[in-house]
Formats: sequence, structure tokens, C-alpha cells
Amino acid sequence: MITTILLDADDTLLDFRRAESEAIGAALTYLGVEPTPAIAARYSAINQSQWERLERREITREQVLQNRFDILFAELGVEQDSSRTQKVYESHLRRGGFLLPGALELLETLHGRYRLYLVSNGSGEIQDSRLEIAGICRYFDGIFISQRMGADKPSPAFFELCFSAIPDFRREETIILGDSLTSDILGGKNAGIRTCWFNGRGKPAREDIIPDHTIEALEEFPALLKRL
Ligand SMILES: [Mg+2]
Repeated sequence: MITTILLDADDTLLDFRRAESEAIGAALTYLGVEPTPAIAARYSAINQSQWERLERREITREQVLQNRFDILFAELGVEQDSSRTQKVYESHLRRGGFLLPGALELLETLHGRYRLYLVSNGSGEIQDSRLEIAGICRYFDGIFISQRMGADKPSPAFFELCFSAIPDFRREETIILGDSLTSDILGGKNAGIRTCWFNGRGKPAREDIIPDHTIEALEEFPALLKRL
């Protein structure tokens, strides 16, 4: 029986793709660079790869934030200050509290039946702002943002810090739902809890990170929980 659910934020409940696209568009416009869809897509890919480097503990959070713009500007051949860009980008990103389809309904359904905890790799203030705008803070018994924890998913340290903050925590009654195999699913497996991959965008599976369960729409999750 499941009593406790860890929920990822970005691209599980919140539409990070849209938030990121709007923020990079605004930041580039501010800098006088035309934000074409190709540049926005390239930025997104660079950003993703830098976060994956953080997940593998190859680089620090500060390096992620700096590198992504350094790499983009080098590719575009433009002279821009990455730290200034970062500030403009973040000032827009923090307004990006867009819910994914079915996210609010899912939280409404689970709330009161399970203990819900948000687990997110991200910057504290930015995630606070986006969750607040999305209006979903009230559903959670606890919100764990990696910057504040001093550890990131998938590290066991991140999960152990969460577990120690959850009253009467039991691994066997806990599941994580998230869209990332490399942070949510790998982290959950290493931490000894059940895992459910939300693959809403048809991403390819990986042979080395196998989730216990996979759903393609958030509305499938409550029925799965009842069976466990
Ligand atoms: Mg995510």
C-alpha cells in the first residue's frame, strides 16, 4: 500500500518547456538577439545537457547556470555577458508557473488520500515563485528543492534528506512520480523506493534505468496507486 508520494515539478506538474521557452525568448530579445525557434530549441538542449552533467555530479549548479549561456553565445558567435543574461532569464523564468494538462486534477484527487511531497532540482526562489503562481503549494505536506537541500536528484543524499524530514517515513509505502529517468527514476531506485515514470512526450526508454511503472498521462496515476 502506498501512503507517501514524491512528485517531481518540472515537466511532471509544471510545463517547464513553456516556461523556459518564454524566458529564453524574453532574455534574448532584451539582449538584442532575435529569439528564433531554432535558437530557443538549441538553448533548451544545452540547458538539459548541463543539468544532466549536474546529475552526474560533474559540475556545480553555478557552472550549469553559467555554462549554458557561455556555450549558446559561443555557438551563435555573439558577445554577451552570461551572468547578466542569467539574471534577465531568471527574472522571466520565475513567472513561468504553467500547469500541465491534468496536473491540478491529479493533485485534487491525491490530496487527502496520500501524503504528497514535491521533489525538485532547481533554484529555491524560482521554484517557490513558479509553484505559487501555479497555485499548488497547498497540496504538499513538504516541498524539497535541491538548492536548499544542498544535494540534487538522483543523489542518495538528496533522497535521504527528504526521507529524514518526512514523519514516520516508510520506503515500502513510498513512490516517486517524475518525467526524468536520470534524476527521478534513477534516484528513486537508488533510494529503495518504488518508481513511476511519467512519459507524456514519448521519450525513448533506457535499458539501464528501468522504472517499476510507466504512465503516459497523469490521469493514469490514481488507478495505478490503488493497485499497489
Ligand atoms: Mg522533471
